[in-house]
Amino acid sequence: MPRELLIQVTPETAHNELLLQEHVAKLFQVAVSEIQKVVVLKRSIDARQKAIKFNIKANVFLKGEPYSESAIELPDYPNVSNAQEVIVVGAGPAGLFAALQLIELGLKPIVIERGKDVRGRRRDLKAINRDHIVNEDSNYCFGEGGAGTYSDGKLYTRSKKRGDVDRILRLLVAFGATPDILVEAHPHIGTNKLPQIIQDIREKIIECGGQVLFETRVSDFLIKSNEIQGVVTQNGDTISANKVILATGHSARDIFELLDRKKILIEAKPFALGVRAEHPQALIDKIQYSCDFRGAYLPPAPYSIVKQVNGRGMYSFCMCPGGVIAPCATSPGEVVTNGWSPSKRDQATANSGIVVELKLEDFKPFARFGALAGMEFQKAIEQKAWHLAGGSSASELAKQTQKVPAQRMVDFTQNKVSSSIPKTSYVPGTTSVELGQVFPGFLTQIMREGFVQFGKSMRGYMTNEAILHAPESRTSSPVRIPRDHETLEHLQIKGLYPCGEGAGFAGGIISAAIDGEKCALKIAESLSK
Ligand code: FAD
Repeated sequence: MPRELLIQVTPETAHNELLLQEHVAKLFQVAVSEIQKVVVLKRSIDARQKAIKFNIKANVFLKGEPYSESAIELPDYPNVSNAQEVIVVGAGPAGLFAALQLIELGLKPIVIERGKDVRGRRRDLKAINRDHIVNEDSNYCFGEGGAGTYSDGKLYTRSKKRGDVDRILRLLVAFGATPDILVEAHPHIGTNKLPQIIQDIREKIIECGGQVLFETRVSDFLIKSNEIQGVVTQNGDTISANKVILATGHSARDIFELLDRKKILIEAKPFALGVRAEHPQALIDKIQYSCDFRGAYLPPAPYSIVKQVNGRGMYSFCMCPGGVIAPCATSPGEVVTNGWSPSKRDQATANSGIVVELKLEDFKPFARFGALAGMEFQKAIEQKAWHLAGGSSASELAKQTQKVPAQRMVDFTQNKVSSSIPKTSYVPGTTSVELGQVFPGFLTQIMREGFVQFGKSMRGYMTNEAILHAPESRTSSPVRIPRDHETLEHLQIKGLYPCGEGAGFAGGIISAAIDGEKCALKIAESLSK
C-alpha cells in the first residue's frame, strides 16, 4: 500500500521529481534508492509566508511495492451511425460534452454550430484584431469549441461535485490535455493547446458516427403541440429530431429573441458587468509573492479579490496571468472585452475582468423588453462603449472599429480623463475616455469606490500603471431558459433541453461540460422508459 503524504516543499522541489524523491527519502529516513515513485495527487501554492512554499499531496511507493503507471484512456465509445438521433445546437463545452455522452449512451448526436471549425475560426479572430471586422457567426464567442476555445482555459469551478469535475478533467486528458490538470489546484490549458483538443473531440464524434455541421445557424424551432420536432437552419433546411439540446451560450442574442418571439418562456437573469483591468505581470507577482522577482519556479501570479461596495459584490472575474485582452464582440457596432493566456502564461501583462453584480431592478429602464431587459441593458453599454471609443464617425463606422474606451485606474477613481494610454495587450487599440460615461452612474460609483478598496487590500494594485478597458459585459447569460429540475426539459416544450451557460445553468468551461453531460443522461433516461 502506498503511503499518502502531505508536505510543504520549495517551488523548485515541487517541480522536480528527483528533488521530491530526495525530500521524501529524508522524511522517511531511507536512501533515495528506496523510493520507487512519488505520485503527486494535488499541488497548490502557499504564498502566505515570505518564503513561498508548495503544498503537495502525494502517494509514496517504496521499492518492491506494486506500482504501475496507468494511462488515462477514452471510454469505449460505440458506433452510433444508425442509432436514434439527438440534435445538439452549439459546439461549446456544453454541446461537445453532451455529444460525447450521447455517444457513450448509444445515441447519435447531430451537432449544429453556427461558427467555423477551429482552423477557419482563427482567420476570423485575426480579422477582428487586425482589421476590426466582426463576423457575426465566427468570433471569440462563436465557433467550434464555443467561447472557451481561445481562452485561458481555466478549469476550476465552484461545483461541489468533485466526481463530475474529475470526469471532465480526465476526458480532457484522454483527448490530449496535460495530466497536470488533474494535479494542480488551479489548472488551466491555454489558448495554444485548446484548439487541438477540441478538434480531437470533434473527430471522435464523427468517427463514432455522429455528425458535426459547421457554418450552420439554427434560426427556428419546429414545434407541434408543445413538443419539439426539430430545427430550421439559416438556409431554410430542416433537421428533425424529437430531442434537442440547446447549448448556444450567453451571446446567442438571436436565439433569445427567437424564443421570446415564439412566446417560449425565458426569464431575465442578473449577471455582472464592469471593466477589464490590465497590470504589468511583474507588479502582480510583486504584490502576490512579496518579492521583486518571482524566479524560475513560481508561475505568473494570479489574483482573486472580492469586496462589498454599497451592498453589491465587486470582484475579479476570469483573471488571466501573463495574458492578453481579446475583442469579444459578436456584432459590429459594439465592443466587449475578455481575456486569454497561452499555456505558459508568458505575456508581459496580467488582465482580469473587474465586475459588479447586477440586480434585476437595474434593468428597469429596459423593462419594455420584458425577459430581454438584461440583454438590452448589456447591449446598450457595449454600443455606447463602441461610440465613445470612436465608432460614431463615418470613417470609423465603415471600419467597424473595435477600439475600446480606456482609462488609467487612478484617473478613473478621480474622474479624470487620462492624458495618455500606453499600448496595452488589446490589439485593436484604445481611446482615452472617462469611463464614467460608459456606465450608469451607480455602477461607476461602485467601481470607483471598489478600486480604492482593492488598493487597500492589495498594496500596489491601485496604480496609474493599470489600464481599465470597457466593457467586460459577457460574464454570464442575461437570460435564463427555464427547465424542469427533474427532467431538465424546458418548462413548456417537451424534448427541448436548455443547457449550459446560455440557458443559465453553468458558468465556465467545466460547469458547462458537466451540464452537457447531464442533459445527455436525462435524454437517455427518458428514452429508456
Ligand atoms: P459556449 O461556449 O458559448 O458555446 C455556445 C456555442 O453555440 C458557440 O460555439 C456558438 O457559436 C454556438 N451557437 C450560438 N448560437 C447558435 C445558433 N443559433 N446555431 C448554432 N450554433 C449556435 N471559462 C472558463 O471556465 N475558463 C476560462 O479561462 C475562460 N476564459 C474565457 C475567455 C474568453 C475570451 C471567453 C469569451 C470566455 C471564457 N470563458 C472561460 C467562459 C467559457 O468559455 C464559457 O463559460 C463556456 O464556453 C460556456 O460553454 P457553453 O457550451 O455553455 O457555451
